[in-house]
Amino acid sequence: MMKSSKIAIWTLFACVMVTGVLKAQSGNQILDGIGETGMVARYIFNGNAKDWSRNNLHGRIYGPNAKFEDDEKFDKVLSLPSDDKTFVSLPGEAVEGEESLSITTWVNFRSDQVGQTLFDFGKDYRNHFFVVPFGTKKKEGFQAQVIQNGKEKYTALSTDFKIEVNQWVHLAVVLDIPSKTMSIFINGKQVGKVDHMEMELGDLFTHENLMYIGRSITSNNPFLYAKIHDFRLYRIPLSEQQIGRILNTGEEVVKREKPEDELPQFESNQPQLYNSYLTGVSNVQGETTVGYLPRLPRFVKGTYKSGVQGPEVRVLWPSPTDNAEVKQPGIYEVIGKVAGTDFQPKAIITVKNDQTEVTPHQTLEAFSLEEVSLDFDALGKQTKFIENRDKFINTLAQTNPDSFLYMFRNAFGQPQPEGATPLGVWDSQETKLRGHATGHYLTAITQAYASTGHDKKLQANFAKKMDYMVNTLYELSQLSGHPKQADGPYVSNPTEVPPGVGREGYDSDLSESGIRTDYWNWGEGFISAYPPDQFIMLEGGAKYGTQKTQIWAPYYTLHKILAGLMDIYEVTGNQKALDIAKGMGNWVHARLSQLPTDTLIGMWNTYIAGEFGGMNEAMARLYRITNEHRYLEVAQLFDNIKVFFGDAEHSQGLAKNVDTFRGLHANQHIPQIMGALEIYRDSEIPEYFLVADNFWYKAKNDYMYSIGGVAGARNPTNAECFIRQPATLYENGFSAGGQNETCATYNMLKLTRNLFMFDQRAELMDYYERGLYNHILASVAEDSPANTYHVPLRPGSIKRFGNADMTGFTCCNGTALESSTKLQNSIYFESYDHKALYVNLFVPSTLQWKERNITVEQKTVFPKENHTQLIIKGKGKFDLNVRVPHWATKGFSVKINGEEEKVSAQPGSYLTLSRNWKNGDTIDIQMPFPFHLDPVMDQQNIASLFYGPILLVAQEPEARNDWRKVTLDAGDLGKTIQGNSEKLEFTIDGVVFKPFYETYGRHSVYLDVTLK
Ligand SMILES: [Zn+2]
Repeated sequence: MMKSSKIAIWTLFACVMVTGVLKAQSGNQILDGIGETGMVARYIFNGNAKDWSRNNLHGRIYGPNAKFEDDEKFDKVLSLPSDDKTFVSLPGEAVEGEESLSITTWVNFRSDQVGQTLFDFGKDYRNHFFVVPFGTKKKEGFQAQVIQNGKEKYTALSTDFKIEVNQWVHLAVVLDIPSKTMSIFINGKQVGKVDHMEMELGDLFTHENLMYIGRSITSNNPFLYAKIHDFRLYRIPLSEQQIGRILNTGEEVVKREKPEDELPQFESNQPQLYNSYLTGVSNVQGETTVGYLPRLPRFVKGTYKSGVQGPEVRVLWPSPTDNAEVKQPGIYEVIGKVAGTDFQPKAIITVKNDQTEVTPHQTLEAFSLEEVSLDFDALGKQTKFIENRDKFINTLAQTNPDSFLYMFRNAFGQPQPEGATPLGVWDSQETKLRGHATGHYLTAITQAYASTGHDKKLQANFAKKMDYMVNTLYELSQLSGHPKQADGPYVSNPTEVPPGVGREGYDSDLSESGIRTDYWNWGEGFISAYPPDQFIMLEGGAKYGTQKTQIWAPYYTLHKILAGLMDIYEVTGNQKALDIAKGMGNWVHARLSQLPTDTLIGMWNTYIAGEFGGMNEAMARLYRITNEHRYLEVAQLFDNIKVFFGDAEHSQGLAKNVDTFRGLHANQHIPQIMGALEIYRDSEIPEYFLVADNFWYKAKNDYMYSIGGVAGARNPTNAECFIRQPATLYENGFSAGGQNETCATYNMLKLTRNLFMFDQRAELMDYYERGLYNHILASVAEDSPANTYHVPLRPGSIKRFGNADMTGFTCCNGTALESSTKLQNSIYFESYDHKALYVNLFVPSTLQWKERNITVEQKTVFPKENHTQLIIKGKGKFDLNVRVPHWATKGFSVKINGEEEKVSAQPGSYLTLSRNWKNGDTIDIQMPFPFHLDPVMDQQNIASLFYGPILLVAQEPEARNDWRKVTLDAGDLGKTIQGNSEKLEFTIDGVVFKPFYETYGRHSVYLDVTLK
């Protein structure tokens, strides 16, 4: 196929749109380079008080005399009169649980009278925070004040700069809690600042707050005579540059080279941690095939002085953006770097002309959830696994399915059953992602059903929910493309769906009054919580946003729904569930199969709008279930050609080991990679396997934080993105808005276990263990199933949990439903031929290996002890493969029936115990935990402390903006650490360290470590 010039346009799909040609449209918050996860709400005030962000925090205007006026600069703006009745109120939950707060707005004051209130936010009249643009009677000048316990606590005052009246000014206030500062800005220039503020936002805000624009909380007196435009709330402390960019919205968006929000800096030529004892680094040799970049080892052997037994040395290799250097056979050299040193290890690569690609077949399969149960630990105590599972399952049992069906019925114009209430957040009436939580819900209730064999009453509850959900969705899907009444009009062909009745074109209006419900025109098989327009608009180039002409990831939502339906089919055999999935699969096939490849490439590379979750995975799975080839065709229509193969000729891309995902949105792309692996499973086309395998190796080695998360870029400035360049986590990562979007780790774990089914490399399950214990288990609140979006790892951070009652879901709240209802799904795997069993994780549990009529019990207190015991019930010959973790460097010993086995167990491998097993055979495994450090690859002194598999984090008394300094013994880290390994509680210099999954207050996951 010819490479068309159109493709070049789609190379702009990085997280931040950064070319000079793009103009940031008013209302298009993506283009301001700050990243929308930093945004809480945005009110343009061009005709209403709607929140233009995706968070649905709509405001309300009070008073008879507010009006929207035409304006030369901003077209239409809100005008507040000089009366004492008119003001704007914002939802009180907007600022709940935030770490920091920034507020920006355009204002045109009509009067400079003292006492006017621009805004006033707080939990009551004794604790609040406000801006008085012309001062108070006591104190003149533009100022922001924090009132605590009824007293003026902090005031940021501008004495030199005065605000002019009758002209537009841009005002900003930044409450930066970690830095303990409050700053005020006029027209992008800082004009006042308070230092050494000792407060938390929790001192001012709770779950219900008073949030006024143009009204004072204390006097309850509305008084602001001004025009107002584009009022924004951010949860991050904005920098002066960022405020400048917001101020210049409408101007060209300028490409930025450097992250502007700096972390503490260190000398780049200062060797840190083990590198300061380094005396030499080995060179390496390797081979590759023409066209394929070699996979260079990230760690190589080093030699150390002063008797220090250092680890393998992290080498930073260049990461080319194409495969030019391997286009010809021959030998070439790659020069690497070692952070903080002058060492330049070499890799000598031989490029061979051999074209055969050998990729593995799938040889393993997982056990179903009902075959593995989570048990109490060997001391009879509840584990973190059971605790988290039960929080979710018990709350799920109380949910009302009608809430999850609400927007589906709404889309099809059907009445709601009595008592039905809609979900909030991303499933509310006007949110274009509505229905996404329903997909996760279908999967979660299925998994809960499969995991509650021990409690028949609970299981019946979930069975009822599944049936009800499927029956309702089935009825709705049968309406699509069929006449409302006999002889009525209808359109059954999905490619001929017309615009809504009486409309010129397609739109994404989902408002009560604006939503189209003419399901008879939607084509056969259509199912969604909104009409088909968003799918059709994407084909026409629609972008992401909250306006009627914009969309939000229609195929992402669809993927969740189809995956949930297939889960139900596979666990219960519910044919209707499969029929819905097939009907919609046909609808998608009909539409996508007629589109030119260029259009598809464009769609799948459109930021967020073209995010399709794992549609390729779902369609490949539907093919496997039905054996209908059309579904495999659809799966491949979702190929992200640019990322997977570089271009339409497949000349490079991930399949050739080129890193094509740097700077991209993490969770948009990880499920696509999983889809590539699913297509490989069905088609055995090798390049799909290479896409998945190369991606995983790079993501894990070049993008991963110590908890297992891979997203969180500071550059590009979007916490949901991969860093701009691989292996530069310190330089470009640690975004201020948080890192480690939890759903991205959910997807990484899914990809990891699926890869392991093909290739039994221990490093895969080592990663799985890391992400499971240190991110997924750590992402749930202490006393409810509330859970995290980002998990911030800057110094003194705190986790924020949401959705305790399961009534309003973000993406991460959705995947959390799934994660915590399948915690047992990767402890054991078996080979296809049932001749081998894999023990991947050391979790108290029981496996019913039905194929072999064998039960395996795992009894342990792991990780609160370093021993586990497997008891075989039943008999037979099989290979028992036990993971020897990468961290098990202090030995790994095995006793069978009390007798020591002679084994040579290498850390980071699987140990095979081959035997004709007898009933009652007992295997005891001992694996002493070492303390070890996990440094950031490009800044080695910034490191996380692990004890065996468990991340230990410093418990911080308050917010901070510098890394906690720790000095440890270079020869034996444990010498400097006191504590109790049975409780996993330790101290270093009096500071308490606990597992991250038991940390709910402020924490430091990364430390500034010196070795002595
Ligand atoms: Zn998410």
